[in-house]
This record gives sequence, structure tokens and C-alpha cells, in this order.
Amino acid sequence: MKDLRLPLERARRDHLYRRPLVLDSPQQPEMVVAGRPMLGFCSNDYLGLAADARVAEAFHRGIDRWGSGSGAAHLVTGHSRAHEQLEQELADFTGRERALLFSSGYMANLAVITTLSGRGDTLIEDRLNHASLIDGGRLCGARLRRFPHADLAAAGKQLQNATGETLLAVDGVFSMDGDLADLPALADLCRRHQAWLMVDDAHGLGVLGSTGGGSLEHWRLDAQQVPVLMGTLGKAFGTAGAFVAGSEALIETLIQEARTYIFTTALPAAVAEATRSSLKILRKERWRRERLQELVEKFREGAARLGFALPASTTPIQPLIAGSAETALEWSGLLAEQGILVTAIRPPTVPRGSARLRITFSASHTDEHLQRLLAALERLRP
Ligand SMILES: *Cc1c(COP(=O)(O)O)cnc(C)c1O
Repeated sequence: MKDLRLPLERARRDHLYRRPLVLDSPQQPEMVVAGRPMLGFCSNDYLGLAADARVAEAFHRGIDRWGSGSGAAHLVTGHSRAHEQLEQELADFTGRERALLFSSGYMANLAVITTLSGRGDTLIEDRLNHASLIDGGRLCGARLRRFPHADLAAAGKQLQNATGETLLAVDGVFSMDGDLADLPALADLCRRHQAWLMVDDAHGLGVLGSTGGGSLEHWRLDAQQVPVLMGTLGKAFGTAGAFVAGSEALIETLIQEARTYIFTTALPAAVAEATRSSLKILRKERWRRERLQELVEKFREGAARLGFALPASTTPIQPLIAGSAETALEWSGLLAEQGILVTAIRPPTVPRGSARLRITFSASHTDEHLQRLLAALERLRP
């Protein structure tokens, strides 16, 4: 029997031990954490919709109409009219023939990869892709090739050497660094090598593009150039779940084959109702994206004035690289003492030696919140 104490002790010793904080408030900038007021800068609730009253109201109405549970998987008990409408609205939003709901982004990524890629095929990924894309690669049986972050020449070489069907999968916005994948160049490479291109836009949708269409709207790429788009609903949408958008044939294939679609309970219909409401708000309230841009610019100016060298990122993900896990924890602790919550991001979430504070912004942060963050950062000055 495996001795579980050793790895736990090792994680503690290496400053890698993790535990969830317990909140006594909704997910919003001003929170109560274990009974204590804290100002948070680490959630992915970019548009401030996780605690929006209109989205919550739609959630309530959804429960009144559909009850709490969905009963079984989509293909067993069926799914509600609300699920169906949300799928149509997401297809319309992303300009694709169809969209298919999943219970999480992790499962949506496993679905696409295991369906499009298998034994004898080649799967090509950026080294900094999200863990779920990497895990899909481990599960699917294809040859997994990972190119150094953003290295287009290396990606091109891997495409050239690929055998079988080829799928190239990348994050649209890299989740821990906030930089954008060069999607036009990758789309071009994939077209030349007749490979599928899949974009995981968990951190782009709702945030980038004037109508919130994400990385593809930002780069003006169409469904031909990026045939597979994955979006999550637990971040900018402020609810839960995820979707894949693409052609009729792609969605039908996922329905028939994807085990993480077939063998799991559908999201509650009320979540679909809440998400329909947040989709409307997200498309219409452009000021939320403009506010985010303004916060990011002001933060970068302020941090530069304090002497921090920030990596290039124009998105609400603004990492402060600490290096060791120990330093990242120490920084996080110094902020916590001042009532600011930014959890330390450590390996294996990020590569060894690049532990960090991943500071994120939400449209509901005020200027005063930003000033409090910058004042607290003075204690970490290089
Ligand atoms: C959060 C995230 C996922 C997983 O989505 P969940 O709905 O949280 O499971 C997938 N990819 C990226 C890039 C993410 O940031």
C-alpha cells in the first residue's frame, strides 16, 4: 500500500502544499475569507458577472421552471429547452453552425482531443497550454509533440514531421501569463499542412473583441481558419460549464463519440438559463471590456513606477514573477497581511522557477481597489 505521508511532507517542505480558502461571501472583489474582509485580485470573473443580480435572477427563474437537477446525461433523459436555446445562442455568438455544452472546460477539451486524435495521429501543443489540453493528449493515444512557448518555427517543424491526422491545439490567451497566441500565423501553418486548429479561449471569450467574441474576434479569424473553438462559462460568463463550437459534422461526431459528453450528467438547466442571461449582458455591455483595459493600463503604469518588470500582457491576467515557490508564498502572505488576496501560483501549474502572483482584474474593481493593490505592492518592491 502506498505511503501517503511522504509525498505530503515533501510538498510541505518544498512550499508546494495547497489548500482551498473558505469564503463567507460571493465571488466579487470585496470578499470575506475565513471571516476576514479581503480584496481579491485572483479570480477569473473578468466581467464581474459571477455575482451579478440579473444573472442570479435568471438562475432563480431557471430553478422555478426546471428544478435543481438535470437527472442524467444529455443522451439519456434529454436536456431542457434552456440547454438547447443556449447552444443555439452560443453558435450564433461564435458564428458557427453548432455549439455543444459540456459540464466543464476540462471535459470539453478531453472530448475534442480524444475525438479528433488517436493512435497513429499527431497532436501538437504549445508547452504552456492548459493542463486539460495536455491531459487530453495523454489520454488519446496520439503522438504528443509540445513546442516551446510561442515558437512558430518549432510548431512548423512539428507540423511538417507529423504523421496521420494532425491536430494543433493552443490556448487563445495563456492562462498563467496573459499573452495571446499568434493565431493568424498558426492558422496559416495549419492550412498549409492540412491540420486541424483548435483554440481554447477560456480567457479570451467575453474579454477580447468589441462584442466579446474573444481571441478570434480580436484577430478577425473565421470558422474556416479555426475550425474548433472551445469556450468556458465559469470565467467571463460568471456561471459554470463550457462549450465547443464548430461545424455540424464536428458537433455530431462529438455527440456520438466523446466519452466526457456521453458519460456525465448534464449541467442543471438553471445554469443554462443563468448563462443565457450572462451572454446577453456580455455582448451588450461593452463598457465592461473597456473598464478592464483601463484597469490593466493603470495597473501596469503603477507597477512600473514601483519598479516591477511585468511580462508583456495586455489582458486582465498580469503575472508578477517571483521565481521560487517560497518567494511567491511570501509575497502572497505580505499582501494578505494588508487585506489583499492573490494566491501564489506554483509548480506544477507553472514551470519550476517561475512561481508567481497571478494578478487578475475584474470590470467590477474600482479605482480605489486598484490604488489599494498598488499601495500593498510597495512592500514587495524589488
Ligand atoms: C479554466 C480553464 C479550462 C478548464 O475549464 P473549467 O470549466 O474550469 O473546467 C480549460 N482551459 C483553460 C485555458 C482554462 O483556463
